[in-house]
Amino acid sequence: MATAAPRTVTATREIHLAARPTGIPGPEHFALAPVDLTPLAEDQILVRNTWMSVDPYMRGRMDDAPSYIPPFELGAPLEGSAVGEVIDSRSAHVPVGATVSHFLGWREHAVLDAAHATVVDTSAVPETAYLGPLGTTGLTAYLALTEIAPVREGDTVYVSAAAGAVGSVAGQIARRLGAGRVIGSAGGPAKTGLLLSEFGYDAAIDHREGDLAGHLAKAAPEGIDVYLDSVGGDHLTAALGAMRPRGRVALVGAISAYNATEPAPGPDLYQAATKELTLRGMIVGHYLDRFPAFLGTAIPWIQDGSLRTRETVYEGLDRAPEAFLGVLSGANTGKMLVRLG
Ligand code: NDP
Repeated sequence: MATAAPRTVTATREIHLAARPTGIPGPEHFALAPVDLTPLAEDQILVRNTWMSVDPYMRGRMDDAPSYIPPFELGAPLEGSAVGEVIDSRSAHVPVGATVSHFLGWREHAVLDAAHATVVDTSAVPETAYLGPLGTTGLTAYLALTEIAPVREGDTVYVSAAAGAVGSVAGQIARRLGAGRVIGSAGGPAKTGLLLSEFGYDAAIDHREGDLAGHLAKAAPEGIDVYLDSVGGDHLTAALGAMRPRGRVALVGAISAYNATEPAPGPDLYQAATKELTLRGMIVGHYLDRFPAFLGTAIPWIQDGSLRTRETVYEGLDRAPEAFLGVLSGANTGKMLVRLG
C-alpha cells in the first residue's frame, strides 16, 4: 500500500443545507461554508476528497420527513459517497497515501474514523468507479436483477432511466444474466442512441415522446418478464401493463415524484422501495394442486374450534342477486352464502 508524508490541513469548505425546498430545489437551498477541521483523534484519518457522488435519493433527505434515512440537518453539511486520498492518519490500518471511499462527501476534506472508510484498489480501475459501477448504483443494478427481480435465461428485461448510473449498468448486467432482449428508456435522442451503441440495449425508448405504453408494445410485442423501475409514475404504469404473467418488478426508485408537492393519484408504490416490501400477485386457480395439503392443515383447525368462522346467509334463489350485491357493499360478515335447499 502507498505510503507518503502526512500533510496537515486545518480548514476546509463544505456545502450546507441552507433551507428546505418545496418542489424543485434551487441554489438558495445550499450554502458554501468555510469550516475549521478538528485535529485527528486516535484511529482517525484526514481525507482530501477527490470525487463526490450526487444521487437522486438526496432530494428526499432535503425534506424534513421520516424515511429510511434521516433528513439532512439545516445548517449542517450534506453527506454522501465520496472517494479521496488519505493525507494524514492516526490509524494503524489506513495509511497516508491510501485511496478510500467513505460517506462524508459535499466537502473538500473530511476527518473521520478510519473504521468508516474503505481502502479501495485503484490499480485496475479508476477511483471514480467506486462511486458508479462499483458503488451503490452498480450494486443496486446487480441486486435488482439477481435478487429482487431475478433475470432468467431468455427474459425480456425493461429498465427505465436506462442512461443513468443504475440503468447504464443494469442493461449490461441483464445481458450477462442471459436476458434475451433488453429494453431501456431515457430522455432524448442522444441518450437513447447511447443505450444502443454503448450500454448493450436492444431497443431504446425516448420517454420524452410520450405514449410509453405504445413504444413498449412495439419494443416488446410479447411483453416484459422483468422491469427495473427507477422512475415510478407513468413508467411504472406502462411497464405493469406490458408485464407477462409471473413477471418480476424491482422497485428501486420513483424519481418522477421526488420533487412533487402533492401525492400523485393512486398508490404510492415508492413506499415499496423504501420499506423493501414484497408485493406479489396470485390467482388461486393456478394453485389448485395445493388443495390436498391445505385441507389436511385446515380441517383440524375447524374440528378443534381454533379456526373461527362466520356465515351470512340469504334465503332462496330469488335473493341471490341481493346477496351478490350485498357482498359488494359489505352486507356480509364472513362468507356470504345463499341457502337454496
Ligand atoms: P440516474 O443517473 O439514473 O439519474 C437520474 C435520471 O432519471 C436522470 O438522468 C433522468 O434521465 C431520469 N429522470 C428524471 N426525472 C425523470 C422523469 N420524470 N421521468 C423519467 N426519467 C426521469 O440516477 P441513479 O442511477 O443514481 O438512480 C436511478 C434511480 O434509482 C433513482 O430513482 C434513485 O433514487 C434510485 N436508486 C435507488 C437505490 C436504492 O437503494 N433503492 C440506490 C440507487 C439509486 P433521463 O434524461 O433519461 O430522463
